[in-house]
Formats: sequence, C-alpha cells, structure tokens
Amino acid sequence: MVATKAPNKSRGADKQAGHKWVYLFNEVDEAQALVGSWDKVRSLLGGKGAGLADMTRADVPVPPGLTITTEACNAYHANEQFPDGMWEQVVNALKQVELKTEKEFGSATNPLLVSVRSGAKFSMPGMMDTVLNLGMNDAIAARMVELTGDPRFVYDAYRRLVQMFGSVVMNMDDDAFEHPLTDMKKKRGVKSDTDLTADDWKSLTEQFKVIYREAVGEDFPQDSYKQLKLAIEAVFKSWNGKRAVDYRNAAKIPHDLGTAVNVQTMVFGNMGSESGTGVAFTRNPSTGERILFGDFLMNAQGEDVVAGIRNTEPIADLEKENPEVYQQFLDIVAKLEKHYRDMQDVEFTIERGRLWMLQTRDGKRTARAAVRIAVDMSDENLISKAEAVGRVSPDHVIQLLHPQFEDDARISAKKAGRRIAKGVNASPGAAVGVVAFDADLAEKWGKAKKSVIMVRPETKPDDVHGMLASKGILTSRGGATSHAAVVARQFGVPCVCGADALDIDLRARTMRVGDLVVAEGDMISIDGGTGEVFVGEIKRVEPDFMREAYLRRLLEWADEFRTLGIYANADYPVDAKRAREYGAQGVGLCRTEHMFFQDERLPIVQAMILSAPNSEEEAKNLEKLQQFQHDDFYGILKAMDGQPVIIRLLDPPLHEFMPDHEQLAMRAAGLRIMNDRPKELQRVEELMVAVEGLREFNPMLGLRGVRLGIMRPAINRMQVRALFEAACELVGEGVEVHPEIMVAVTSHENEVKFMREMIEAVADETMSHYNIKFEYKIGTMIELPRAAIIADRMAQYSEFFSFGTNDLTQTTFGISRDDAEGKFLLEYVETGLLKENPFQVLDADGVGYLVNLAVKKGREARPNLEVGICGEHGGDPQSIAFCHKAGLDYVSCSPFRVPVARLAAAHAALKGMKEDI
Ligand code: PEP
Ligand code: MG
Repeated sequence: MVATKAPNKSRGADKQAGHKWVYLFNEVDEAQALVGSWDKVRSLLGGKGAGLADMTRADVPVPPGLTITTEACNAYHANEQFPDGMWEQVVNALKQVELKTEKEFGSATNPLLVSVRSGAKFSMPGMMDTVLNLGMNDAIAARMVELTGDPRFVYDAYRRLVQMFGSVVMNMDDDAFEHPLTDMKKKRGVKSDTDLTADDWKSLTEQFKVIYREAVGEDFPQDSYKQLKLAIEAVFKSWNGKRAVDYRNAAKIPHDLGTAVNVQTMVFGNMGSESGTGVAFTRNPSTGERILFGDFLMNAQGEDVVAGIRNTEPIADLEKENPEVYQQFLDIVAKLEKHYRDMQDVEFTIERGRLWMLQTRDGKRTARAAVRIAVDMSDENLISKAEAVGRVSPDHVIQLLHPQFEDDARISAKKAGRRIAKGVNASPGAAVGVVAFDADLAEKWGKAKKSVIMVRPETKPDDVHGMLASKGILTSRGGATSHAAVVARQFGVPCVCGADALDIDLRARTMRVGDLVVAEGDMISIDGGTGEVFVGEIKRVEPDFMREAYLRRLLEWADEFRTLGIYANADYPVDAKRAREYGAQGVGLCRTEHMFFQDERLPIVQAMILSAPNSEEEAKNLEKLQQFQHDDFYGILKAMDGQPVIIRLLDPPLHEFMPDHEQLAMRAAGLRIMNDRPKELQRVEELMVAVEGLREFNPMLGLRGVRLGIMRPAINRMQVRALFEAACELVGEGVEVHPEIMVAVTSHENEVKFMREMIEAVADETMSHYNIKFEYKIGTMIELPRAAIIADRMAQYSEFFSFGTNDLTQTTFGISRDDAEGKFLLEYVETGLLKENPFQVLDADGVGYLVNLAVKKGREARPNLEVGICGEHGGDPQSIAFCHKAGLDYVSCSPFRVPVARLAAAHAALKGMKEDI
C-alpha cells in the first residue's frame, strides 16, 4: 500500500493545539525564556512588538497591548485561516488590556479603541498595513462624544476608521474617500483638515459609510470584534502584498519571516490643543550629527506627520508647547538610545498632556550618518571600535563616495537662474535624470537604462518600485521624516523633499515654478545634500575622500582588524597617488599596455609592431618607447615610495594596437578611386596586410601575454630595462623602490623560467650599469586553469602569484567575457540560473576551487610565496571575504574601491574571529 500524505490542515492543526500565539507587552520575559536570544524574540514578536515589550519592561510609558506572533502569520499563510486557538488567545489577552486600561473593547459604556499594526523582524516602513481607531461604531461614537465632550475629535476618528478599514481591509481605492473630503473643504472655504467642524466630520463619516457600502456591498461592520478579526487577517495578508514583496527583494529580507501583528490601546494626539503627535530620531539621520531630529504636530494623528500632508513643527519647538513633556521625552529617548546602543527612531503621542511612546527602532540612516554615528558612538564608549566598523557596510562607503555636483557648474547654473527650488536635503548625493511623474513610468524608464528622477507631490508605499528604479526622488510636500525621505535614505537614492515652490500637476504631467514649466521627460538635476533643484544637467565630480574625516577614522580602525593587504590597480602616476591617499599599500597591477595607447605613443607602437622581429627598425622604435615607459615607471615608483609595485609586462594581442581592418579597407577603396595619392595607398595596403597577419580567431586565447614575450622578446626587454633604469635613478635619489615584475597568461612553468632568465639578465645588466642594487621579485599571474593545477611547478620560478580572476573566470567557465554579458550572462542571472554574475562576484565553487588549490600547492613548493588577486573581484566585498578565507596576502582593486576593500577586509577578519570563538 502506498502511504498517503496527511492533508496540510490537520497536520498543522495538531501542531497548533496549545501553542502560544499571543503575547501581552508585559510578557516579554516569558517569550525570551522560551526562544532564548533577543534576536529570536525579534523574530517571534517582530521588531515593533519586541521594541514595545522591551520599552514596557523598562518602564517607558507605552499604551498597553498585545502581539500576535510571526509564527501565527506563517501558520495563517500555510492554511489560509487563523491557527487553532489564536483568536481565543487574542480575545483573552484583550481582556487583560481592558483590565489595565479600565476600558472595554466593543462596549458602548466605557469603550476601548485599538490600533492594529504590522511589525516584521526587520522594519519595512509603510510596506504593510495599519488600521487605527478599531472598535468604533455608531453607538460607541455617540458615547465617546458624551465622554470627551469633543464630537469633532470623535467623528474625525470614526471617519478615519471607515476610510482605513475600507482601503486596507477591503482593498477599496483610497481616492474614493479623498474626493468628499476635498469637496467638503472647498464648500467650507477652508484649506486644512483642522478647520473642519464637528458637524462636517459627522457628515463625512456618514458619507464614508455610504461609499463603503457601495464598494463592499455590505454595511460597515458595527461589531468591534468582527472589525478586529478582519483587520488582523488583512495585516497577515499584507505580508505577501506586492509592495511588501518588492521591498523585501530590494532590501534582501527573506520572504519566510512573516509579520507579527500588534494590537494596542489607541491614544489620541488629536484630542485638542493639549494633544499632539510626532516622530523623532535621536540623531540626525542624514548627517549623523548628535542632535535630536524630528517633527511634531499638535492636535493631529501620527499618519499626518509621516504622510507629509500637513507641514510639521521641528521637534525642538515642543519645549514651547509643553516643557515638562519635552523634558520627559528627552529623558526617555536618551535612555532608549543608551539601552539599544544605536540611533533610535521613535514615535510618540501626547494625549491631553500625557506622553506615550508608540514605537522605537534602530533608525534608518544615510551612509554619511551611518559612518558618523558609528564613530561618535565608539568615541562615546557606547560601542567598541569593532562594532563601529561592523555597523558600516561596504555599500555605505560606496554611497558616501557618490559623485557630487561640480562647484563651478552649480554656481553658474544658479547665476543663470536654473535653480528652480530648494527643499529639504533628505538623502545626499547628486542626481541627474529625466522627470517621471509616476512610479510605473519611473520603473519602465529605469529598466530601459534611462536616468530618471521620480517627481511626486508626496510618495506612498505603493511607489517604492519606481523609487528604486530612479536615480533621484523629488517631492513638493513632506519633510525629512516623510515616506520619500525614509525610503530614499535607506537605499542611498539622492532625495529632495518638500520643495514647495514646485506646483506639480499630475494630470497635465508638468511642474511649474512661476512661468517655467518642466514637462515629463525633461532633464533636471537634484542635490540631496543641499536640497537644491535645477533644470537641465549639472556636471558631476568625483567625491573628495580626503575631506571625509569620519570615514577616514573609521577606516583606520578597520585597518587595525584586517589581515588582508589592500593594493590598487594603477596604470599611471596619478592613479598611484590617489590609491595611496585612499589607503592602498601597494600597486597590485600596473597594466603597461594602457600606456601604449596614448596619442603620441600609438604611432610608434604601430611602427614597432610592423617592423620585423629583432630588426633594427624594431630596436629604433622600442628605444623611443623606452623613454616614455621610463617616465611612467619613474612616476609610479616614486608615488609608491616604500611600497611594492607590481608591473605586468605587455599582455594584450598586438592587433589591439592596430587600426581596424574594415576601416583600412574603406580608406584604401577611397584612395583607389581618387587615384592621386599612390604613396598613402601603398602605406594603407601594407597596414592592411599587417593587420590581416595579426588577425586571430580567438585573440584572448592567442598570441598574448607571455606568448608574445617569447615571440617578440625585445618588447619585454625594453619594458624591463625602462623599469630598472627608473628604479636605479630613484634609489640614487633616496626613494625606496620595491618593483615586482609579473608575467601574464602563463600555463607552463617553462614559460615562467624563460621570462625569469630574460628579466634577470636585463636587471643585472642595468643595475651594474648604475652600480646600484635593490631587491625585486619576479612572479606570474595565475589566470589559466592549468597554471592553477600545476601551481607547485609555477612556484619554482615565481616569488609571487597574482590571480587574474577576470581571465581565470573566463577560462574556467569557457565564457568569453567580452561577449557573454551582452548576450546571455545577464539572462542567466535574471532567471536565477546563476546566483551572481561570476565576473563581478568570484565563483567560489569553481574559480575559487582553483584559487584554493593554487594557494595550497604554491605555498607547499615555496612557503614564503606572496599571493594576491588583481582581477575585478578584488574590489567586491563578497569576493574579498573569499580571499580572506583563502589566505591571500592582499587584494588589488581600482583606487576608488580601496576604501570599500579596506572595510570589507576588516569585516571578513571580524567575522573570522567570531567563527573562531
Ligand atoms: C585578469 O585577467 O584578471 C587580469 C587582471 O588581467 P586583464 O583583465 O588585464 O586580462
Ligand atoms: Mg588577464
């Protein structure tokens, strides 16, 4: 008999019986005892639930409530119904909340209203659903009017519930409720919601209920428990809503965590002028400065602040409104920051003069703020240096070194009247792009590789896909804590908010400032660091690392932890200088061919290539090139005084230096028709023959690297001579030189042996000529699988290996790097066939296997073998972690990547230390 699987439902139900799905805020010790670590409490109760419970434990005033666990959410999704016992536990816990608050849920005598909010382990601001004022119905509203004597407040709260319940729980279009509100304000001739009267809100509540009935097909539920049940279910469902899924994909949050649901006593910031609400960060989330940062609004509910609909007051002004509450607030947030040892993002409400904390979480921040906060907190002895280093990600460093607008270009644009607005500098960085007025278009254009600036009056969670596809975000409403600002900062997208000079007309798809009209598709530039908005394009410049004092200090700490050396790939003295400024400890790859491409050199290079090997003509041209090479090497070695410089002998196939065959053929055809320049025609025809002769079917596997060195040894001899002459002169001038000469594309030890003998001969001859002696090394790249496999034999003739993982990836996969990315590789990555592009992230299983093998065999043959990497992977954090584990001595990357590599190498070392414990 074939065993059949039990149906999911009953299996799940067995496991569910007796399970605890609901925790009161004051039951956090119980939760912790059950699951163990605080991290697991956060997994179980979600970040918000854990925070509320933790604040309750610390005697911070938190409105009482309960949390339904993430496990319940997952169980709900498995069976599409509440797990057994969950609802009963909610009802029982609510009884406890009633006891604490001395109010009763669903009672028309002494009513308790609650909020229902999502809260996953990792915060996903605004991505899931929230319903406020739950429990309200006609009878309760009437009773609340009696209790508060404030019908205006009560009916404002009631209509908000109908609106939120309709849109969030019943999926109604939010706009359906906006029109009556706008019409009412027009009718009354008022601008702001606060100017509407009690009767207006009462009438709006009735209108909203009618709209609800028409859309849903039944009356708005008067049963408070029914409201609660449906709202909890809606929050569970919102975990799998499109915007939540998009956000998780972008933020790399796993999809199987589920969300918790927090049911909490409502407190009201809109109960008159003694009430208010606000959000604050314990430090400035944009700059990291240690000052309280945030906004509040008196007589308002939380969503008014976050949505950026009403213009808020800066948090410091709360002192004028209510000095005692302000002081209490300062004390609480200081305590919270100390407790969590990180910058906190808090939400609070003042209900008739009494302060309530509704939320605390680690605040989202810009890269600049992340660095400064980490450094400051270490200086304040809140966290260790290792923690400070660990809190800044390589992505932060990449963002911080974002391009900025060139000062002159900015000033002249301003003078020319191109600065059209100034808003809040919400997320730093300079962005240039075409205007798109909605998220779908921004996403479409972004995917088509257009640079887009998404422009909206304000953004909503539904806009996130467009925001992520944009190079910049611009809004005309809302402040530094508005949705647009928070999301932009998290993803490092430059953002300017609340530029209220902009009159955005979404129907006409234009924005106006005075007479100036910017249409969709027009180019604008925004500076998220200064809040400026310009029409047209403004030139950008690379950032100035030397001015980033906090980052430089943090990286000095990183240097104390890392064991990997950080070198740079630098072809010219300016690159070498920059690399050194950025903290490089050597040059890991100098691609000498790049020097050959310069305008004044190319004709000499071509003439040299065309001359017969070992001819006088060849020697003459090489002599000319030698002077150039000498100057290059002199500059680089001088810039790297005291540090190693790895010079790679000429690598690419010679045809790369020659003109294109087709262009030559066309030129020859033209000359034949004109028939008046026979000499030139002859020269072009000779060139064509030469180019034809150099043609290869697979040039990347052809006559290049060491093979070229063997076939045309005079070229490499010239390079070595130029290098040693420059080095001898520098030694004479007191500079400390450590040249290392590297041979490319080797696959057999005899190739290295041949080159070694040649290099040593030229080196000896040159050094004796100058009567100067210094240490140097000869080594090989490992960029072909065979070289890795016979690394022990390669090491006999090499003092160092440098993994050329660009070629090694190409030859291990058998994929042409020049063709693959455009043709199929990106498709492989998009469809998930390959997890990453192996030319960006080192393929640990295949290429990495060869690297490990070569390190092991190489060091067995030569214990003090120096081993590094100089392929593009040397600047990629994940690949750097691999190199650390593989025991490499250094990674070499582009000078701009050096700061990122320093941090990534420290992270790898710190992770290794943790694993060792
Ligand atoms: C490599 O192959 O990884 C390398 C650094 O050399 P190139 O990219 O110049 O071929
Ligand atoms: Mg290579």
